[in-house]
Amino acid sequence: MKSNTMKGVGVVPQQKELRVIDHPEPSIEAPNELKIRTLEVGVCGTDREICTFAYGQPPAGGDYLLLGHECLGEVLEVGSGVKNFKPGDLVVPSVRRPCTDPNCRPCREGRQDFCVTWKFTERGINQRHGYMTERFVEEERFLTPVPKDLRDLAVMAEPLTIAEKGLTQAWQVQKRLTWAHDNRDGKGRGHGLNAVVLGAGPIGLLGAMKLLIEGFRVFVYSRSPKPNFKADIAEQIGAEYISNLQVSAEDLAKHIGNIDLIYEAVGEGHLTFDVMRVLGINGVYILTGIPAEKPPIPVYVDNIMRNITLKNQAIIGTVNASPQDFADAIHDLGEFKKRWPKAVQALITGRHKIDAHRELLVGKATGIKNVIEFGA
Ligand SMILES: [Zn+2]
Ligand SMILES: [Zn+2]
Repeated sequence: MKSNTMKGVGVVPQQKELRVIDHPEPSIEAPNELKIRTLEVGVCGTDREICTFAYGQPPAGGDYLLLGHECLGEVLEVGSGVKNFKPGDLVVPSVRRPCTDPNCRPCREGRQDFCVTWKFTERGINQRHGYMTERFVEEERFLTPVPKDLRDLAVMAEPLTIAEKGLTQAWQVQKRLTWAHDNRDGKGRGHGLNAVVLGAGPIGLLGAMKLLIEGFRVFVYSRSPKPNFKADIAEQIGAEYISNLQVSAEDLAKHIGNIDLIYEAVGEGHLTFDVMRVLGINGVYILTGIPAEKPPIPVYVDNIMRNITLKNQAIIGTVNASPQDFADAIHDLGEFKKRWPKAVQALITGRHKIDAHRELLVGKATGIKNVIEFGA
Protein backbone atom coordinates (compact mmCIF):
# COMPACT_ATOMS: atom_id res chain seq x y z
CA MET A 1 0.00 0.00 0.00
CA LYS A 2 1.29 3.41 -0.93
CA SER A 3 1.75 5.62 2.09
CA ASN A 4 0.35 9.12 1.95
CA THR A 5 2.26 12.13 3.08
CA MET A 6 1.22 15.27 4.88
CA LYS A 7 2.81 18.64 5.54
CA GLY A 8 4.89 19.36 8.63
CA VAL A 9 7.28 22.06 9.79
CA GLY A 10 10.69 20.72 10.66
CA VAL A 11 14.41 21.26 10.84
CA VAL A 12 17.16 19.37 9.03
CA PRO A 13 20.04 19.96 11.47
CA GLN A 14 22.81 18.66 9.21
CA GLN A 15 21.85 21.14 6.53
CA LYS A 16 20.92 23.85 9.05
CA GLU A 17 17.59 24.13 7.35
CA LEU A 18 14.06 24.95 8.49
CA ARG A 19 11.34 23.96 6.02
CA VAL A 20 7.99 22.42 5.25
CA ILE A 21 8.54 18.67 5.06
CA ASP A 22 6.43 15.94 3.44
CA HIS A 23 6.07 13.53 6.31
CA PRO A 24 4.48 10.06 6.04
CA GLU A 25 0.93 9.87 7.36
CA PRO A 26 1.07 7.86 10.62
CA SER A 27 -1.36 5.08 11.46
CA ILE A 28 -2.42 3.32 14.64
CA GLU A 29 -0.12 0.38 15.30
CA ALA A 30 -1.04 -0.65 18.86
CA PRO A 31 -4.39 -0.98 20.66
CA ASN A 32 -3.59 1.82 23.12
CA GLU A 33 -2.91 4.38 20.38
CA LEU A 34 -5.06 7.14 18.91
CA LYS A 35 -4.81 9.06 15.69
CA ILE A 36 -5.19 12.77 16.22
CA ARG A 37 -5.79 15.72 13.92
CA THR A 38 -3.71 18.73 14.90
CA LEU A 39 -5.77 21.87 15.43
CA GLU A 40 -3.27 24.35 16.86
CA VAL A 41 0.41 24.36 17.83
CA GLY A 42 2.01 27.09 19.94
CA VAL A 43 5.41 28.49 18.97
CA CYS A 44 7.80 29.10 21.85
CA GLY A 45 11.39 29.98 22.66
CA THR A 46 12.38 26.31 22.62
CA ASP A 47 11.23 25.99 19.00
CA ARG A 48 13.08 29.16 18.09
CA GLU A 49 16.24 27.82 19.74
CA ILE A 50 15.96 24.55 17.85
CA CYS A 51 15.87 26.69 14.71
CA THR A 52 19.28 28.10 15.67
CA PHE A 53 20.43 24.44 15.73
CA ALA A 54 21.60 24.74 19.36
CA TYR A 55 19.77 21.45 20.02
CA GLY A 56 16.92 19.44 18.55
CA GLN A 57 17.73 15.87 17.57
CA PRO A 58 15.86 13.96 14.83
CA PRO A 59 14.47 10.49 15.59
CA ALA A 60 17.00 7.67 15.19
CA GLY A 61 17.76 6.97 11.55
CA GLY A 62 16.11 10.15 10.25
CA ASP A 63 17.61 13.43 9.14
CA TYR A 64 14.79 15.79 10.14
CA LEU A 65 12.81 16.67 13.25
CA LEU A 66 9.24 17.95 13.06
CA LEU A 67 8.88 20.81 15.54
CA GLY A 68 6.12 21.65 17.99
CA HIS A 69 5.38 20.52 21.54
CA GLU A 70 2.47 22.80 22.55
CA CYS A 71 -0.51 21.22 20.86
CA LEU A 72 -4.27 20.97 20.82
CA GLY A 73 -5.74 18.18 18.70
CA GLU A 74 -8.96 16.37 17.90
CA VAL A 75 -9.25 12.57 18.06
CA LEU A 76 -9.83 11.03 14.62
CA GLU A 77 -9.56 7.29 15.37
CA VAL A 78 -9.01 5.18 18.46
CA GLY A 79 -7.25 1.83 18.86
CA SER A 80 -9.24 -1.14 20.17
CA GLY A 81 -7.81 -0.79 23.69
CA VAL A 82 -8.46 2.94 24.16
CA LYS A 83 -10.82 3.49 27.07
CA ASN A 84 -11.33 7.18 27.69
CA PHE A 85 -11.48 8.88 24.30
CA LYS A 86 -13.68 8.76 21.23
CA PRO A 87 -13.46 10.43 17.82
CA GLY A 88 -14.24 14.13 18.02
CA ASP A 89 -12.79 14.56 21.53
CA LEU A 90 -10.30 17.36 22.10
CA VAL A 91 -6.92 16.42 23.58
CA VAL A 92 -3.63 17.96 24.65
CA PRO A 93 -0.60 15.65 24.35
CA SER A 94 2.35 15.88 26.73
CA VAL A 95 5.96 16.29 25.61
CA ARG A 96 8.39 13.95 27.36
CA ARG A 97 8.46 10.19 26.85
CA PRO A 98 10.05 7.78 29.33
CA CYS A 99 13.51 6.26 28.92
CA THR A 100 13.68 2.49 28.57
CA ASP A 101 15.96 1.76 31.54
CA PRO A 102 14.15 -0.73 33.80
CA ASN A 103 15.90 0.83 36.81
CA CYS A 104 14.71 4.39 36.14
CA ARG A 105 12.03 4.56 38.81
CA PRO A 106 10.55 7.93 37.80
CA CYS A 107 10.07 6.74 34.20
CA ARG A 108 8.68 3.39 35.29
CA GLU A 109 6.16 5.23 37.45
CA GLY A 110 5.05 7.66 34.75
CA ARG A 111 7.13 10.54 36.09
CA GLN A 112 9.58 10.92 33.20
CA ASP A 113 9.69 14.63 34.07
CA PHE A 114 12.07 13.43 36.84
CA CYS A 115 13.96 10.88 34.65
CA VAL A 116 17.30 10.04 36.24
CA THR A 117 19.08 8.53 33.24
CA TRP A 118 18.50 11.59 31.02
CA LYS A 119 17.77 9.15 28.20
CA PHE A 120 14.17 10.35 27.86
CA THR A 121 12.91 11.60 24.52
CA GLU A 122 10.72 14.63 23.86
CA ARG A 123 8.22 15.26 21.09
CA GLY A 124 9.32 18.10 18.87
CA ILE A 125 12.62 18.51 20.74
CA ASN A 126 14.61 15.37 21.23
CA GLN A 127 14.46 12.24 19.04
CA ARG A 128 10.70 12.32 18.48
CA HIS A 129 8.71 14.24 15.93
CA GLY A 130 6.61 17.09 17.22
CA TYR A 131 3.08 18.21 16.50
CA MET A 132 3.62 20.82 13.77
CA THR A 133 2.02 18.52 11.25
CA GLU A 134 -1.50 17.68 10.17
CA ARG A 135 -1.96 14.39 12.03
CA PHE A 136 -0.10 12.30 14.57
CA VAL A 137 -0.45 9.08 16.55
CA GLU A 138 -0.06 8.96 20.31
CA GLU A 139 -0.65 6.58 23.22
CA GLU A 140 -3.67 7.21 25.41
CA ARG A 141 -1.58 7.65 28.57
CA PHE A 142 0.14 10.74 27.13
CA LEU A 143 -3.11 12.59 26.39
CA THR A 144 -5.21 14.90 28.55
CA PRO A 145 -8.88 15.45 27.70
CA VAL A 146 -10.04 18.99 26.99
CA PRO A 147 -13.62 20.23 27.43
CA LYS A 148 -15.10 21.67 24.22
CA ASP A 149 -15.46 25.15 25.72
CA LEU A 150 -11.66 25.39 26.05
CA ARG A 151 -11.13 24.91 22.29
CA ASP A 152 -9.90 28.53 22.12
CA LEU A 153 -7.38 28.33 24.98
CA ALA A 154 -6.15 24.75 25.39
CA VAL A 155 -3.12 25.27 23.14
CA MET A 156 -1.71 27.12 26.19
CA ALA A 157 -2.06 24.10 28.47
CA GLU A 158 1.53 22.92 27.97
CA PRO A 159 3.17 26.27 28.85
CA LEU A 160 0.85 26.49 31.88
CA THR A 161 2.01 23.06 33.10
CA ILE A 162 5.35 24.70 33.93
CA ALA A 163 3.63 26.81 36.59
CA GLU A 164 1.48 23.88 37.71
CA LYS A 165 4.47 21.64 38.39
CA GLY A 166 6.49 24.49 39.92
CA LEU A 167 3.70 25.50 42.30
CA THR A 168 2.92 21.90 43.27
CA GLN A 169 6.53 21.50 44.31
CA ALA A 170 6.60 24.84 46.09
CA TRP A 171 3.62 23.78 48.21
CA GLN A 172 5.30 20.48 48.94
CA VAL A 173 8.36 22.39 50.18
CA GLN A 174 6.14 24.72 52.22
CA LYS A 175 4.60 21.79 54.08
CA ARG A 176 7.60 22.43 56.31
CA LEU A 177 5.69 25.53 57.53
CA THR A 178 3.23 23.37 59.42
CA TRP A 179 1.09 26.29 60.58
CA ALA A 180 0.59 27.93 57.21
CA HIS A 181 -0.98 27.68 53.77
CA ASP A 182 -3.91 25.40 54.50
CA ASN A 183 -6.54 27.53 52.75
CA ARG A 184 -8.58 27.52 55.97
CA ASP A 185 -10.28 30.77 55.04
CA GLY A 186 -11.22 29.59 51.52
CA LYS A 187 -9.28 32.44 49.93
CA GLY A 188 -6.58 30.20 48.49
CA ARG A 189 -3.36 28.78 49.87
CA GLY A 190 -1.51 31.90 48.76
CA HIS A 191 -3.81 34.34 50.58
CA GLY A 192 -1.74 36.87 52.51
CA LEU A 193 1.45 35.96 50.64
CA ASN A 194 3.43 37.95 48.08
CA ALA A 195 4.65 36.48 44.80
CA VAL A 196 6.95 38.02 42.20
CA VAL A 197 6.89 36.78 38.61
CA LEU A 198 10.04 37.51 36.62
CA GLY A 199 9.18 38.05 32.98
CA ALA A 200 5.96 38.88 31.16
CA GLY A 201 6.03 36.34 28.34
CA PRO A 202 3.49 33.51 28.11
CA ILE A 203 5.13 31.43 30.86
CA GLY A 204 5.24 34.48 33.15
CA LEU A 205 1.71 35.75 32.53
CA LEU A 206 0.18 32.26 32.77
CA GLY A 207 2.15 31.81 36.00
CA ALA A 208 0.83 35.15 37.29
CA MET A 209 -2.73 33.99 36.61
CA LYS A 210 -2.10 30.73 38.42
CA LEU A 211 -0.64 32.56 41.44
CA LEU A 212 -3.62 34.94 41.51
CA ILE A 213 -6.17 32.14 41.58
CA GLU A 214 -4.16 30.61 44.44
CA GLY A 215 -4.75 33.86 46.36
CA PHE A 216 -1.31 35.51 46.17
CA ARG A 217 -0.70 39.23 45.72
CA VAL A 218 1.24 39.16 42.45
CA PHE A 219 3.90 41.50 41.09
CA VAL A 220 5.15 41.03 37.54
CA TYR A 221 8.74 42.28 37.34
CA SER A 222 9.87 42.58 33.75
CA ARG A 223 12.02 44.65 31.47
CA SER A 224 9.87 46.95 29.34
CA PRO A 225 8.69 50.10 31.10
CA LYS A 226 4.97 50.86 31.08
CA PRO A 227 2.91 51.42 29.06
CA ASN A 228 3.12 48.20 27.06
CA PHE A 229 0.60 45.51 26.18
CA LYS A 230 2.09 42.89 28.52
CA ALA A 231 1.84 45.31 31.44
CA ASP A 232 -1.77 46.00 30.42
CA ILE A 233 -2.60 42.28 30.63
CA ALA A 234 -0.83 41.97 33.99
CA GLU A 235 -2.89 44.85 35.36
CA GLN A 236 -6.16 43.60 33.85
CA ILE A 237 -5.81 40.40 35.86
CA GLY A 238 -4.99 42.26 39.07
CA ALA A 239 -1.20 41.94 39.21
CA GLU A 240 1.05 44.97 39.64
CA TYR A 241 3.53 45.46 36.79
CA ILE A 242 6.95 46.90 37.61
CA SER A 243 9.85 47.47 35.20
CA ASN A 244 13.26 46.33 36.38
CA LEU A 245 14.74 49.19 34.35
CA GLN A 246 12.91 51.66 36.60
CA VAL A 247 12.82 49.92 39.98
CA SER A 248 15.79 48.06 41.49
CA ALA A 249 15.41 44.69 43.19
CA GLU A 250 15.96 46.37 46.61
CA ASP A 251 13.25 48.93 45.94
CA LEU A 252 10.96 46.19 44.68
CA ALA A 253 11.37 44.35 48.00
CA LYS A 254 10.80 47.58 49.98
CA HIS A 255 7.61 48.15 48.02
CA ILE A 256 6.28 44.61 48.45
CA GLY A 257 7.35 43.54 51.94
CA ASN A 258 8.29 39.92 52.51
CA ILE A 259 8.57 38.15 49.14
CA ASP A 260 7.23 34.67 49.83
CA LEU A 261 7.63 33.24 46.36
CA ILE A 262 9.43 34.15 43.14
CA TYR A 263 8.50 32.49 39.87
CA GLU A 264 11.28 32.98 37.34
CA ALA A 265 10.05 32.99 33.75
CA VAL A 266 12.69 35.18 32.14
CA GLY A 267 15.44 32.71 31.25
CA GLU A 268 18.13 35.25 32.01
CA GLY A 269 20.76 34.65 34.67
CA HIS A 270 21.61 38.20 35.63
CA LEU A 271 18.10 39.32 36.60
CA THR A 272 17.36 35.93 38.17
CA PHE A 273 20.32 36.14 40.57
CA ASP A 274 19.87 39.85 41.21
CA VAL A 275 16.33 39.20 42.43
CA MET A 276 17.45 36.17 44.43
CA ARG A 277 18.96 38.67 46.92
CA VAL A 278 15.51 39.91 47.91
CA LEU A 279 13.67 36.61 48.34
CA GLY A 280 11.95 36.82 51.73
CA ILE A 281 11.94 34.83 54.93
CA ASN A 282 10.92 31.18 54.39
CA GLY A 283 10.64 32.02 50.69
CA VAL A 284 10.68 29.70 47.71
CA TYR A 285 12.30 30.54 44.38
CA ILE A 286 11.06 28.56 41.38
CA LEU A 287 13.39 28.53 38.36
CA THR A 288 11.95 27.63 34.95
CA GLY A 289 14.34 29.33 32.51
CA ILE A 290 17.00 27.68 30.37
CA PRO A 291 19.46 30.44 29.44
CA ALA A 292 22.02 29.98 26.72
CA GLU A 293 25.53 29.85 28.17
CA LYS A 294 27.28 33.21 28.43
CA PRO A 295 30.52 34.43 30.06
CA PRO A 296 30.60 34.53 33.90
CA ILE A 297 29.13 37.58 35.64
CA PRO A 298 29.64 39.00 39.15
CA VAL A 299 26.90 37.89 41.58
CA TYR A 300 26.40 38.81 45.27
CA VAL A 301 27.05 35.22 46.30
CA ASP A 302 27.77 35.80 50.00
CA ASN A 303 24.67 37.88 50.42
CA ILE A 304 22.59 35.27 48.59
CA MET A 305 24.10 32.36 50.50
CA ARG A 306 23.64 34.10 53.85
CA ASN A 307 19.98 34.71 53.04
CA ILE A 308 19.32 31.16 51.85
CA THR A 309 20.59 29.88 55.18
CA LEU A 310 19.31 32.49 57.60
CA LYS A 311 15.92 32.87 55.92
CA ASN A 312 15.20 29.14 55.36
CA GLN A 313 14.94 29.66 51.64
CA ALA A 314 14.42 26.97 49.01
CA ILE A 315 15.42 27.18 45.36
CA ILE A 316 13.60 24.75 43.07
CA GLY A 317 14.24 24.07 39.42
CA THR A 318 11.38 22.62 37.41
CA VAL A 319 11.19 21.10 33.95
CA ASN A 320 8.42 19.39 32.07
CA ALA A 321 5.30 18.16 33.84
CA SER A 322 3.26 15.18 35.04
CA PRO A 323 -0.13 13.99 33.74
CA GLN A 324 -1.68 15.61 36.84
CA ASP A 325 -0.04 18.93 35.94
CA PHE A 326 -1.65 18.73 32.49
CA ALA A 327 -5.05 17.99 34.04
CA ASP A 328 -4.54 20.91 36.46
CA ALA A 329 -3.57 23.21 33.59
CA ILE A 330 -6.77 22.39 31.69
CA HIS A 331 -8.79 22.96 34.86
CA ASP A 332 -7.09 26.27 35.56
CA LEU A 333 -7.49 27.55 31.99
CA GLY A 334 -11.22 27.14 32.67
CA GLU A 335 -10.84 29.22 35.85
CA PHE A 336 -8.83 31.90 34.01
CA LYS A 337 -11.52 32.04 31.35
CA LYS A 338 -14.21 32.62 33.98
CA ARG A 339 -12.23 35.33 35.75
CA TRP A 340 -10.44 37.12 32.93
CA PRO A 341 -12.02 36.08 29.59
CA LYS A 342 -10.45 38.94 27.67
CA ALA A 343 -7.01 38.91 29.25
CA VAL A 344 -6.48 35.17 28.86
CA GLN A 345 -7.62 35.37 25.24
CA ALA A 346 -5.20 38.26 24.68
CA LEU A 347 -2.24 35.97 25.52
CA ILE A 348 -2.74 34.43 22.06
CA THR A 349 -1.34 37.20 19.92
CA GLY A 350 -1.99 35.63 16.55
CA ARG A 351 -3.24 32.51 14.79
CA HIS A 352 -1.29 31.84 11.63
CA LYS A 353 -1.21 29.45 8.71
CA ILE A 354 1.70 27.09 8.12
CA ASP A 355 3.16 29.55 5.53
CA ALA A 356 4.01 31.92 8.39
CA HIS A 357 6.29 29.36 10.06
CA ARG A 358 9.55 30.99 8.99
CA GLU A 359 8.60 34.42 10.23
CA LEU A 360 7.38 32.94 13.56
CA LEU A 361 10.37 30.67 14.10
CA VAL A 362 13.32 32.70 12.86
CA GLY A 363 11.90 36.22 12.46
CA LYS A 364 11.81 38.82 15.22
CA ALA A 365 9.91 37.54 18.28
CA THR A 366 6.67 39.50 18.59
CA GLY A 367 3.59 39.38 20.77
CA ILE A 368 3.02 36.82 23.52
CA LYS A 369 1.88 33.43 22.18
CA ASN A 370 1.74 32.82 18.46
CA VAL A 371 -0.07 29.76 17.21
CA ILE A 372 0.00 27.84 13.92
CA GLU A 373 -3.35 26.43 12.84
CA PHE A 374 -3.61 23.17 10.94
CA GLY A 375 -6.33 21.44 8.99
CA ALA A 376 -9.59 22.65 7.59
ZN1 LIG B 1 7.25 25.54 24.69
ZN1 LIG C 1 14.12 7.62 32.82
